[in-house]
Amino acid sequence: MTHTAPVRVAVLGSTGSVGTQALDVVRAAPGRFEVVALAAGRSADALEAQATEFRVPPDRARVCGDDGTPLAELAALDDVDVVLNAVVGFAGLPATLAALTAGKRLALANKESLIAAGPVARAAREAGGGTIVPVDSEHSALHQALLAGPRERVRRVILTASGGPFRGRTSEELAAVTVDDALAHPTWSMGPKITVDSSTLMNKGLEVIEARELFDLDVDQIEVVVHPQSVVHGMVEFTDGATIAQLSMPDMRLPIAYALASPDRVTEPVGVVDWTTLGDLTFAPPDLDTFRCLALAFAAARTGGTAPAVLSAANEVAVEAFLAGGIAWAAIADVVEAVLGTVPPVPAGSLDDVLDADASARDAARQVVARMAAG
Ligand code: MG
Repeated sequence: MTHTAPVRVAVLGSTGSVGTQALDVVRAAPGRFEVVALAAGRSADALEAQATEFRVPPDRARVCGDDGTPLAELAALDDVDVVLNAVVGFAGLPATLAALTAGKRLALANKESLIAAGPVARAAREAGGGTIVPVDSEHSALHQALLAGPRERVRRVILTASGGPFRGRTSEELAAVTVDDALAHPTWSMGPKITVDSSTLMNKGLEVIEARELFDLDVDQIEVVVHPQSVVHGMVEFTDGATIAQLSMPDMRLPIAYALASPDRVTEPVGVVDWTTLGDLTFAPPDLDTFRCLALAFAAARTGGTAPAVLSAANEVAVEAFLAGGIAWAAIADVVEAVLGTVPPVPAGSLDDVLDADASARDAARQVVARMAAG
């Protein structure tokens, strides 16, 4: 390996789960990366400690709250090679657009950038020449597997889903599940919102939308398969019948390191498979009648425009209501379906279109939830 200059990284959302694991990756690979900017939503003390440890000057270590503007400034700095966008929510959007417009490599963990604002991000990417390397494990797997052949020879991609805590159950069995049931995820440890999304398979549905945006696929080229062991993270099937898969034990530091180092790889292994103890890997089709959120997400992906933004916003309101005890687990899909039926999709030409769709969907979802609670 030749001696190369460190990759200069801006870590946006540095005190959250992905951000802190990214700094673990940086620590584990001395000389490989240099942190040149940091930003956090709220945790000022934690951010200051990170800035001290990684010698980031105060004007480049910012607490941003919900304001995306300082994040966009950090993302476009001349001496930044890679922007890790691990900001939660819409505050992450300006940084995505700024990084892509400035032609940077974007290690993307912010969901809204592709789910709600996919068409807007696509335009920024085309205008500025930036590239996206996804941080999510499934999309990272597809990114890696896609390297095995030309794009026009890809027949389909397969996203794996752990199936969540309710895998194999019927609608009748799931009528009375509690918040605690939904929060008991078998393989990944995550926050409450995303854990509920895993239990409804909405998480996988949102990933279908992201895969479509990231890799410019037709929705019909994307399949979901339930794989409870979470070892195969994604697969690409080529036109000659060959399927290329990426396998590793569930550990977010691997896709994070891949996104930071791409097109190179780090030399510190994480998530290595021990074939002597691995046991069985199993695969099954998802039950779209019981896990209706996945079917609704496929439908929104097909519709395009602002439909994915509406889906995602309605789901957020519904999951909050479920977590607060306001609606049943099965009603999450009812809320999303009702909102998709009442907020008409329009082309997502600008950030304002996306934010309008988001606001309308949240209003509509709150009304549906209130009616359910009353009735
Ligand atoms: Mg995932």
